[in-house]
Amino acid sequence: MPAQTDLPDLPVPATLLPSDGRFGCGPTKVRVEALEALAATGADLLGTSHRKPAVKAQVARLRAAIADLFDLPDGYEVLLTMGGATAFWDAATFGIIRQRSRHYVFGEFSGKFGAATAGVPFLDDPDLVDSPVGTVPAVTAAPDDVDVQALTHNETSTGAMMVPVRGDDHSLVLVDATSGAGGLPVDLTQVDAYYFSLQKGFASEGGLAVVIASPALLTRIEEVAASDRWIPPFLSLATAVANSRKEQTYNTPAIATVFLAAEQTEWMLAQGGLDAIVADQADKAGLVYGWAAERDWATPFVADEDDRSLVVATIDLDDAIDADVVNAVLRDNGILDTDSYRKLGRNQLRIGMFPAIPASDLQAYTACVDWIVDHL
Ligand SMILES: *Cc1c(COP(=O)(O)O)cnc(C)c1O
Repeated sequence: MPAQTDLPDLPVPATLLPSDGRFGCGPTKVRVEALEALAATGADLLGTSHRKPAVKAQVARLRAAIADLFDLPDGYEVLLTMGGATAFWDAATFGIIRQRSRHYVFGEFSGKFGAATAGVPFLDDPDLVDSPVGTVPAVTAAPDDVDVQALTHNETSTGAMMVPVRGDDHSLVLVDATSGAGGLPVDLTQVDAYYFSLQKGFASEGGLAVVIASPALLTRIEEVAASDRWIPPFLSLATAVANSRKEQTYNTPAIATVFLAAEQTEWMLAQGGLDAIVADQADKAGLVYGWAAERDWATPFVADEDDRSLVVATIDLDDAIDADVVNAVLRDNGILDTDSYRKLGRNQLRIGMFPAIPASDLQAYTACVDWIVDHL
């Protein structure tokens, strides 16, 4: 980021500003109405026992709303696991992968699960299928010794989205949907674990993951738990299944995370459910990519239009316009967190377009960037 003293003093006209300045990709905008609903619980929820009815009712509320939003196929269950998506990778390493996993790597997040399984003493080295950043790998049949295929619904670091599909009939399909869930379409019959942290599309806080588990996944979890492999108790998915069925978690959860995610999920249902949200996402994405395409100094980073994410837009800027300066001026004006993913190292804006962010604010965002570029 440029030093504050070098920064042009450019107050964007108030009429151009969005109603809410949060456009980051994680954590993302939490609706103020949801925060007010949390505050309104007063002395009844936060600070009370997570083994008692008030908190268990919120866990039940979240699990039921998720089941409703995703219209779960027969036999699928909603689990809550501790530690978010990152901890789920370790839980899956201990509790789901039998021998070897395949990972489709097309950015930072998709690479992390694969890296977490490399060097695990009881597993064979993972089969990594790489695809350059900004592209999406095709899902194909894995070698016979592979029993898990790991996909990423939306690669948050690059703004590329993948369609979750089965590549073969001998692997369970695990989909990291942390930034895609709730904003992208999904056919859950193609998936065995659709898992996501709650601080992105579900506009909540960190620390927990939802795992939508297929019957085949539940069977695999039982099978591995019954084997002689040692599994750390905190990462035991069999324990997570048993607790989730009792509307509980293994240890103390972040209760605000549960509450805010339930608020957001019910809000999504009130907007018309997943299909309505996805249609809205397509409109918002069209607006942002369309804006970039009309500027001769801006280009969508993901070349193939079908691969362009509906929840995270990555827009490259012409070298003559320093994205760090644009982001710093935006920040000065209360518009936050549209920096490119640090390790990608591009002259780029990365814009969260998650369900909680209205089209009108994305429109305002583009108008603010136009104004800043005009005045630099
Ligand atoms: C943010 C993100 C993660 C990491 O989530 P944590 O809750 O920090 O573990 C994993 N995968 C994807 C695709 C993400 O966007």
